[in-house]
Amino acid sequence: MIISTGFYDIPVKLNIPGEDLPKVKHYYQDPNYYALQKVVVVGSSNSAIDVALETYRKGAEVTLVIRGADVGERVKYWIRPDIMNRIKEGSIKAYFKSNLKAIRQYEVDIETPEGLVTIPNDFVMAMTGYQPNFEFLKKIGIKLSEDRFVPEYNHTTMETNVAGLYLAGVVVGGMDTHLWFIENSRIHADMIIGDIVGKVEKL
Ligand SMILES: Cc1cc2nc3c(=O)[nH]c(=O)nc-3n(C[C@H](O)[C@H](O)[C@H](O)COP(=O)(O)OP(=O)(O)OC[C@H]3O[C@@H](n4cnc5c(N)ncnc54)[C@H](O)[C@@H]3O)c2cc1C
Repeated sequence: MIISTGFYDIPVKLNIPGEDLPKVKHYYQDPNYYALQKVVVVGSSNSAIDVALETYRKGAEVTLVIRGADVGERVKYWIRPDIMNRIKEGSIKAYFKSNLKAIRQYEVDIETPEGLVTIPNDFVMAMTGYQPNFEFLKKIGIKLSEDRFVPEYNHTTMETNVAGLYLAGVVVGGMDTHLWFIENSRIHADMIIGDIVGKVEKL
């Protein structure tokens, strides 16, 4: 059996009041929908920055809320100058070292180094990452590391601690979801099939 369930089904929640309002999105589709709307984007990695730039270019008024002191270091190198310049010229507003604290129907509270700021708001795009379904992995017997919930598997065959149960794709990364992507996880298929074929040949 091969498990390749990825990690996009479970968004990392903000756990703040108002997160259950329908205007709060953990998934992003069409930027046109946000034209002329006041959009807060939470996060500073690739998804957040793509959402900020695309909705801005379709006419949204965009505010980024970023926990760190800078735009995420893993943002693609050809996207980074674009967002830095939009922030610098003020066309996208960014609060650094800041956290979204509460969401209400028409406004949000942001905790900034200068104190609590309340701004008008129509939509919150919570681009705060995703995580594998660890409960599912545990339930089927896969051991996870204590610190980063990395599944136990053989790095040559992709077979887990459960005999005959393999993992493929980004699900193998535990909490370190950035380690695996399309290009470097395709190889898992060859490794798994090679192992299965080898086992069958020995029968
Ligand atoms: C905006 C964006 C841009 C990206 N750009 C790139 C890029 O340029 N290059 C690159 O290499 N990577 C990129 N990635 C990452 C890439 O999408 C992932 O690395 C890749 O999709 C992981 O493949 P996967 O098969 O492991 O998981 P996924 O593609 O997430 O597939 C998992 C599948 O399992 C299903 N599933 C989950 N749980 C269950 C269940 N319990 N039962 C049945 N089915 C289940 C899901 O619905 C899904 O269909 C990007 C990702 C995003 C979001």
